[in-house]
Amino acid sequence: MLAWRQWICLLAVLVISMAANTAAAQYQNGIPVLLYHHVSEDKRDLPRLTVTPAEFERQLALLKHAGFQTISPGQLLAYMKQEPVVLPEKPVLITLDDGYEDNYTNAFPILKQFDFSAVIFMVGVNIDREERLSSRQIGEMSAAGISFGGHSVTHRDMTVLTGPELVRETKDIRKLLKKAAAKDVDVFSYPYGSYDLAAWEAVAAAGYQAAFTVLPGLNKPGRDNVYLLRRIPIYDNTDFNALFRLLDANQPKTKLLAYSPEYSE
Ligand SMILES: [Zn+2]
Repeated sequence: MLAWRQWICLLAVLVISMAANTAAAQYQNGIPVLLYHHVSEDKRDLPRLTVTPAEFERQLALLKHAGFQTISPGQLLAYMKQEPVVLPEKPVLITLDDGYEDNYTNAFPILKQFDFSAVIFMVGVNIDREERLSSRQIGEMSAAGISFGGHSVTHRDMTVLTGPELVRETKDIRKLLKKAAAKDVDVFSYPYGSYDLAAWEAVAAAGYQAAFTVLPGLNKPGRDNVYLLRRIPIYDNTDFNALFRLLDANQPKTKLLAYSPEYSE
């Protein structure tokens, strides 16, 4: 017969392991990474890749109220490498590509409102350009917990570049961003989601720990490569309520395929 102290210990172990299993089950099919571009009322530049601030706020509110919490690229990476990491029950990584100024004026205040973080993938030639993020804005957001990642120097399709061009496109943006963000830059996203073996090797050789594509679905350790991470692009006409229901139920990759149709920027 077990003494009452032993029964209590056994019960505690059981409860703790059940709680751990429940938490793990929340993302057993993998972790979602969302991809935004413009957050603006102005749809003149890339209308399909522009989400209004009101819609961005509505989407983040849905995630927040369902218990989603944003994670850092480092947390996603540790999870993918199956290293010990503390994750929320419903993790999500938010990314924004190209570094538009509206990321600072519109997206940043909404992210702060929900206590959410994000990763902004910046193009080198766009730093301090009109309607793009300035060095000062990058520095301010970086200090407030927004991460920055490389998105090449000139935003050309990396699969048509020469070896020396690939080196410049990956190394130089890392240097520029490290200076502006005053932090290490460990992640990269391929312009147009376009990659090949040479692009992947250049990204790794430049010192990035991970790279993002627009391959659809969730990111799952043991299946997905950290240099080919999956993202779900959010378009102006994305049925976010339907997508949200799949994310909240942590539906597997196949169910999410419909939410990554053809991609064009
Ligand atoms: Zn881009």
